Amino acid sequence: MGFSHVFGPVPSRRLGLSLGVDLVAPKICSCDCVYCECGPTTQKTAQRGLYADPAKVIKEIDARLAGSPKLDFVTFSGFGEPTLNSALGEVAAHIAKKHPQYRRALLTNGTLFGNPALRKECAGIDVVAVSVDSVDEKIFKAVNRPHPDICLETMLEGIRAFSKDYSGRLLVEVFLVPGLNDQPEHLACMKKFFDGLGPCTVEINTLDRPGTQSWVVPASSQALAEAAKILGAVPIGRFCQGQGNMAPADLKERILEIISRRPCTVDDLAQISGASPQEIEILAAELAASGLATKKTLPRGVFFLAQQDPGPKSPT
Ligand code: SF4
Repeated sequence: MGFSHVFGPVPSRRLGLSLGVDLVAPKICSCDCVYCECGPTTQKTAQRGLYADPAKVIKEIDARLAGSPKLDFVTFSGFGEPTLNSALGEVAAHIAKKHPQYRRALLTNGTLFGNPALRKECAGIDVVAVSVDSVDEKIFKAVNRPHPDICLETMLEGIRAFSKDYSGRLLVEVFLVPGLNDQPEHLACMKKFFDGLGPCTVEINTLDRPGTQSWVVPASSQALAEAAKILGAVPIGRFCQGQGNMAPADLKERILEIISRRPCTVDDLAQISGASPQEIEILAAELAASGLATKKTLPRGVFFLAQQDPGPKSPT
């Protein structure tokens, strides 16, 4: 199956129904976060470049938007860091010009926001959701495991500068990893940083499904609520991204592709695919019976994993 740079539509609590645009191949990122639900980073870089051919991406976008599908957003996201692609501005401008009826969103780790040219490319995007998990170098390195060329101070200064000039909707997302970035003193320092930003909404999140490192566990609801209070943040539910609105003909193959990248429950797969949970149950059972998938029970439910994946250890 060839890699498609356009996927979905994918429903999410924050952005409604989005067509996803992946500007890098799996999994190119400037970080290798311990909680990443897309698996380990295989190419860690801080260098912007043409990780996907913009002409090919634009062609795929045009084809998917040709029938004017009902969507809330076209969202730059996927299985790596979209801002690494130096054609982000070009692709975003194309969508604005050719498909002005759709709002654009960007999900980013913010590590490259020290770059003024990138900030300019992002300025016209309607919603920018940027992750900030720490304002402390040691904790940042432990949680996000960034490329050595990423400087936290430069990144934070860049996000601050962006927030002052940006006229769209800025969301700042904190991912809480128990034992790493959840100390009250650290959260108080983060709050100080957030207070110095321009208009934005701070959101807090925690592990929803098995992450890259099996020792990462979700924060309890109480810990999440306490952290949210310190940060002045809104707790949100994480929603997985994937290949939405799948054709029934290749549904089983697509499900296998998704669970080979990240474990999913039947409900996750139903939301991603648009198929009914009953239909997913049947296909997942077929995959398990044929030895292609296996099941793992975690606090949130029964997850399906591709058989070759050694799988997560249950949080203790
Ligand atoms: S969570 Fe985002 S920033 Fe972190 S490794 Fe995964 S894709 Fe990269």
